[in-house]
Amino acid sequence: MLNILMIGNGQCGNRILDAVNRESFGSKSKFAKFYSKQKFKSNVETIAVNTAINDLKEMKFTKAKDRIHIPHLHGVGANRNIGKKVFEDNKEQIMRKVEERGRFDVAFVITSASGGTGSSFSPLLVKELKERYDYPVYSIVVLPFREEGTLYLQNAAFSLREMRESGTDGIILADNQFLKQMGGDVQSAYDGINSMIARRILFLIDSLDSEMMMVTDLGDFKTVMSGGAGLATVGFYGGDDGDMSVKTSIQKALSPPGLLFSTDVYEEASRAMIIIKGDRKYLNIDDISHEVEKLSSAIGHVFKGIIIREGEYPQVLVVLTLESTSELEKMYSAAVEAINMEREKKSRVESQKDMDKAFSQIEGYEPSY
Ligand code: GDP
Repeated sequence: MLNILMIGNGQCGNRILDAVNRESFGSKSKFAKFYSKQKFKSNVETIAVNTAINDLKEMKFTKAKDRIHIPHLHGVGANRNIGKKVFEDNKEQIMRKVEERGRFDVAFVITSASGGTGSSFSPLLVKELKERYDYPVYSIVVLPFREEGTLYLQNAAFSLREMRESGTDGIILADNQFLKQMGGDVQSAYDGINSMIARRILFLIDSLDSEMMMVTDLGDFKTVMSGGAGLATVGFYGGDDGDMSVKTSIQKALSPPGLLFSTDVYEEASRAMIIIKGDRKYLNIDDISHEVEKLSSAIGHVFKGIIIREGEYPQVLVVLTLESTSELEKMYSAAVEAINMEREKKSRVESQKDMDKAFSQIEGYEPSY
């Protein structure tokens, strides 16, 4: 049995963590038993951290004892300098909460890259975890809609770099911009994206802790995540509304609608792990081998795991580390433009100091009527 720690920071991290808790109940009821034994073997501990109390209150499926409020009036307002200072000031309180939960085999830290609290707390928290413990720490980082503005874009660029330098064992990218095809208003897009991420995390955890017909385990996951440029993404297809064909399911998990981040897996991936779940009668070994070989001949090593689940349609999860990513390069050029725009604005504001000169002319005068 694996002991897994999952920490969600900031609004986005909290909401995804809440979606993980909701999915893991296997029921929409908030009174359903947490991590019921039938559903998950792993012992999963969740912790939500935020400076904004309202974001914590909004959580419906995460126990009160799992929510840590770090008081800072009205959050940190997308300012990462403030965010980092607030983390340093409250670090021991957060680390004590982690310590109280016992020992872990693996940890996941979930955050958006672009806000204030999560984006500044998360790299520092990962660094702290890596210094104190010897288990792997993976980060799940959500990139912003590109139209959300210059501050979010520059935050994303810097916080992702800091995350890579934090000592994390790998970064799984999910991109709001890429996933916005879910459609609808912002709230339902968020809900849809959060459920997609939560389902993938739970599938992964479930399979790392399963007795499979062909085994992949935490060791294989570590090897996959250590490949490439330290960045990864996850694809998924199948389930109730899925397909009977395992071949189609693998192809769909690897294609854009299945992925959390925009990439051509045959061009940009470096290592992969494919986990296939379903009833024996759907899992044609020749079809599976053919699809796996197609991927491994393009990218190199592919780990493969098969879990037999009676009566279930095929479900396929793919973890891919990336060697390069043209989408991130584009985001970083946009971030540079954003930083320059902010700088120009700042210098325009500086030059408005001339306004002070203008005002000073009426110093000592009163209006005369
Ligand atoms: P923080 O609370 O200061 O850490 O800031 P947020 O987590 O709200 O960060 C803002 C970024 O997160 C923006 O790019 C939002 O689009 C994104 N975001 C906020 N809430 C959610 C959510 O529930 N789901 C997803 N996928 N993204 C979110």
